[in-house]
Amino acid sequence: LLEARQHETVLEINLDAVVSNFNAFRSRIKPTTAIACMIKASGYGAGPHELARTLQAQGASYLAVAVHDEGADLRRAGITMPILVLNPTVENFHALFADRLEPEIYSFDFLRALIREAGRYGITDYPVHIKIDSGMHRLGFLKEDLSELIELLRSQDRVVPRSIFSHLCAADDPMEDDYTQQQFDYFDECCRMLLSAFPERKILRHILNSTGITRFPDHQLDMVRLGIGLYGVKTMHDGSQDDLRPVSSLNTVIISLKNWPEGTTIGYNRRGTLKRQSVIATIPVGYADGINRHLGYGNTSVMVNGVKCPTIGSICMDACMIDVTDVADVKVGDRVEIFGENIPVDDLAEVLGTIPYEVLTSVSQRVKRVYY
Ligand code: PLP
Repeated sequence: LLEARQHETVLEINLDAVVSNFNAFRSRIKPTTAIACMIKASGYGAGPHELARTLQAQGASYLAVAVHDEGADLRRAGITMPILVLNPTVENFHALFADRLEPEIYSFDFLRALIREAGRYGITDYPVHIKIDSGMHRLGFLKEDLSELIELLRSQDRVVPRSIFSHLCAADDPMEDDYTQQQFDYFDECCRMLLSAFPERKILRHILNSTGITRFPDHQLDMVRLGIGLYGVKTMHDGSQDDLRPVSSLNTVIISLKNWPEGTTIGYNRRGTLKRQSVIATIPVGYADGINRHLGYGNTSVMVNGVKCPTIGSICMDACMIDVTDVADVKVGDRVEIFGENIPVDDLAEVLGTIPYEVLTSVSQRVKRVYY
């Protein structure tokens, strides 16, 4: 780790913080409610393998990924626990079966094709997860589809419903709580219909994401789907998530330092002009590492030896420049935090007019992930 820190830009992932955040959410729900951990998009950028091993050891019930390849990669890494694939494709059925990956089902076409393929491979009782569109209007069955869906499911033994679930579209917005309540009511009704058609089966019901767990614990049902909270990002700023600890920290080092007089311009197109005599450092992190160019021009600051230092000029592909004039005894090799313990990922998201999810998942694959 030290070696890596001295030479490179690394995304450091604190697995103790992952465990602590998992337990923080665990303490908000009943012991009998299962937890599905969302490690899609390469574990929200943190890298999936170590996370999956950690979460498996903590007793998570499910992992959820977006696409088949992410699930297959976890199986190759030795992860044996159940894995839900949220956006499976028809082309991947055989691979799904081979890796025992459990697909979300959101359309009749998809379900019929899956049943057909399961038949071709002589598979029975394959677990699937029924998605209900309770108001997000992205994917899922509607209430009026359920009679036909139940009839289709009951008419065959190739696949069996393992869970029924839905997704809240505005769990973090108190102004939309009436709509969220409508989503809960709609989903409850759908659950009642499906569960009463399969009285012999234990079908898990789940609708809450991280914010949902924090704000609506009464609706935790049989399972919750924990994503961003696991990574220590607070979606509520009312104190209700103050027990969360940041997991991912993007760090680099100063590779060059120079003194320049007032009026000097820095970087491409001379976009940064020094207003005073300054010490300018170059750090080896650029837009190809996932540092959006809008973070240049002083729009954000990074942390060097406890001092916040603004960017100056444009972010380059592989490097950017920062103003370290106010850092005492600054040296080549000093550690620079782009985001993490001291600079919340939310600060970058705010500058970019986006959400922390996007900042975390934008750290590119060439940035080494280091676990501790
Ligand atoms: N469930 C589904 C279907 C999702 O798409 C996501 C995230 O995008 C989550 C759960 C987790 O949400 P969060 O990261 O807000 O906890």
